[in-house]
Amino acid sequence: MRDLTSIALSKGRIFDETAPLLARAGLRPKADPESRKLVIGTNRKDVRLIIVRASDTPTYVQYGAADMGIAGHDILHEHGGAGLYQPLDLRIAACRMMVAVRKGFDYADAVRRGARLRVATKYVRTAREHFAQKGVHVDLIRLYGSMELAPITGLADAIVDLVSSGNTLKANDLVAVEEVMPVSARLIVNQAALKTRRAILQPIIEAFARASGVSA
Ligand code: ATP
Ligand code: MG
Repeated sequence: MRDLTSIALSKGRIFDETAPLLARAGLRPKADPESRKLVIGTNRKDVRLIIVRASDTPTYVQYGAADMGIAGHDILHEHGGAGLYQPLDLRIAACRMMVAVRKGFDYADAVRRGARLRVATKYVRTAREHFAQKGVHVDLIRLYGSMELAPITGLADAIVDLVSSGNTLKANDLVAVEEVMPVSARLIVNQAALKTRRAILQPIIEAFARASGVSA
């Protein structure tokens, strides 16, 4: 079964926004990820989908447990990209990584004064790099979700999180004050597999490129 190709995806946004690309690339999943099946066959006997936690996608592909996958730039930047070839920005699941604070907190003034900021985030590496580049001193607090709570409860002065509509921030009296980076999802491929199985993987990469309207 070595000619079986596995594509790692996370359910939710990534799966939902990838589904039309899969269809255009001629791949029809045999089940919905909400079915709780973690391994989903497709109309192609030699291609299957594996459903992983979004932050685990690069790990599965890095170690070759999946030949390729689709992951947000947020997750890839945290992972670091070792062992991964990133041929395509699929331009799906677009949002922005932002610094946000409680309404009324003067972020610009705190930065100007050289204050030491407490920043809560799931994206510790990305946040560390961002503030280091700006020369802002920060204490980072690692969270796993619901980051909006941190400034409200006094756990932190600021958060670094993904923002799309801004409705979640607004609902929690937070405002975005700075962009860290734009985010969209990318196709990632195991570097070794791309060399040893190029004849099989390259056509799938090209199908994704055509399906997403970007050139490989
Ligand atoms: P979990 O919800 O299981 O903790 P997660 O938050 O990483 O994991 P999703 O919420 O499905 O999983 O997000 C998956 C990817 O979708 C993110 O890595 C990011 O690239 C993208 N994404 C997340 N939030 C947004 C958003 N608000 N708008 C657009 N895309 C987003
Ligand atoms: Mg989420």
